[in-house]
Amino acid sequence: MHGGRDVANDASTVFDLVILGGGSGGYAAALRGAQLGLDVALIEKNKLGGTCLHNGCIPTKALLHAGEVADQARESEQFGVKATFEGIDIAGVHKYKDDVIAGLYKGLQGLVASRKVTYIEGEGRLSSPTSVDVNGQRVQGRHVLLATGSVPKSLPGLEIDGNRIISSDHALVLDRVPKSAIILGGGVIGVEFASAWKSFGTDVTIVEGLKHLVPVEDENSSKLLERAFRKRGIKFNLGTFFQKAEYTADGVKVTLADGKEFEAEVLLVAIGRGPVSQGLGYEEQGVAMDRGYVLVDEYMRTNVPTISAVGDLVPTLQLAHVGFAEGILVAERLAGLNPVPVDYDGVPRVTYCHPEVASVGITEAKAKELYGADKVVALKYNLAGNGKSKILKTAGEIKLVQVKDGAVVGVHMVGDRMGEQVGEAQLIYNWEALPAEVAQLIHAHPTQNEALGEAHLALAGKPLHSHD
Ligand SMILES: Cc1cc2nc3c(=O)[nH]c(=O)nc-3n(C[C@H](O)[C@H](O)[C@H](O)COP(=O)(O)OP(=O)(O)OC[C@H]3O[C@@H](n4cnc5c(N)ncnc54)[C@H](O)[C@@H]3O)c2cc1C
Repeated sequence: MHGGRDVANDASTVFDLVILGGGSGGYAAALRGAQLGLDVALIEKNKLGGTCLHNGCIPTKALLHAGEVADQARESEQFGVKATFEGIDIAGVHKYKDDVIAGLYKGLQGLVASRKVTYIEGEGRLSSPTSVDVNGQRVQGRHVLLATGSVPKSLPGLEIDGNRIISSDHALVLDRVPKSAIILGGGVIGVEFASAWKSFGTDVTIVEGLKHLVPVEDENSSKLLERAFRKRGIKFNLGTFFQKAEYTADGVKVTLADGKEFEAEVLLVAIGRGPVSQGLGYEEQGVAMDRGYVLVDEYMRTNVPTISAVGDLVPTLQLAHVGFAEGILVAERLAGLNPVPVDYDGVPRVTYCHPEVASVGITEAKAKELYGADKVVALKYNLAGNGKSKILKTAGEIKLVQVKDGAVVGVHMVGDRMGEQVGEAQLIYNWEALPAEVAQLIHAHPTQNEALGEAHLALAGKPLHSHD
């Protein structure tokens, strides 16, 4: 135990808030709660920071950046620079990645300690509607927040062995660059690994059962990503589901439902993540659940009045910043503030592959469903008309979805570094901006951000660097 109170020697302590799980959702609630004067206990069995810091957002983005550096070295000549790409030193890549994590981990530990959060290391279990048992001790609270997160899922009969059939956890610490890989699942995690591995030199094939890569994105973004991946030599098979995987002499063979077979050195199973809730006492305490997820209302309250839940454990978007927002919401509610529920459509979503896919708001298809096909306007602005994108030699588009004569309800972007543009897109969506209002704002030249301005100029009926 570090910081805050010594629960081991003071069993009479009743915290304002006991948090089970120190990932994005749990630690955000702890930090905000302590800031608002709540007496907070944070229980974590592994490492403070959870999936995002140790097995998710941060390490994957480090691998992707290493991949980008490799691609730039390989492709330097097209910019008139003579560099030679000699190969990937995977130990060096891991060192770089681990150094980034270690620095952030240290900072986070310091932050939690400085806010006087009582941090308890150990595996906890909900023992009553107001307590968690950990290390043989009962930690009492007026309120309990469940934030135990998620772990990689697999399919029946598909056993993850950590060597040839692996999850993202294993892929992040793999001590070699695989010569070839099959990636089961073309969602965010699947395409990010496909992108990084391809940059490292792996022969990659993605197998996705649905019709498109990143299937929850606007179809236009999926198609643009597919075109870019095809150009990069990343192979994919869409629209047919996985049937079985078998070991071969030196790898794995995957068979699809239509009999098609693929062979590779490793199979990365990236079909999604499931909640960590089994055996933790949730059901025994009467917490309503669905397929392992804890059910909550828009204020993150479960059906048990003293228990809330946030993050990947609840069936909302599985993103670190969603966990942060939900954790903060719970802390503010318990501190007597009046926080606003999260608008999940207004959450920015970025897939950090090369090229990046970024979006906020709703897809064109969803807008048509909601408002009627004749009430929806869609506009595409091609990055070919954007000076900075040309300089970077990246291709892609910004697509805007607007309710006719009304606000922009969807921004969907594909192209290198487009993730960095999602901030303005988020303001546009969340402030229900009209195209003419965004068109009025001056965007710096030459930036990729300018493309967002130009797209709105076009939607407002006064295109500058785009054809009418
Ligand atoms: C490969 C990958 C890449 C990702 N990339 C991104 C990205 O770029 N951007 C983004 O926004 N999101 C990304 N995510 C998703 C993001 O990591 C999660 O949405 C986020 O970590 C969820 O936070 P959480 O607090 O709900 O759960 P977690 O971060 O999983 O934290 C839960 C914590 O609870 C602890 N715990 C569980 N059970 C117990 C127990 N019984 N007792 C004590 N402690 C317990 C765990 O050890 C863990 O630390 C990525 C995920 C993966 C896997």
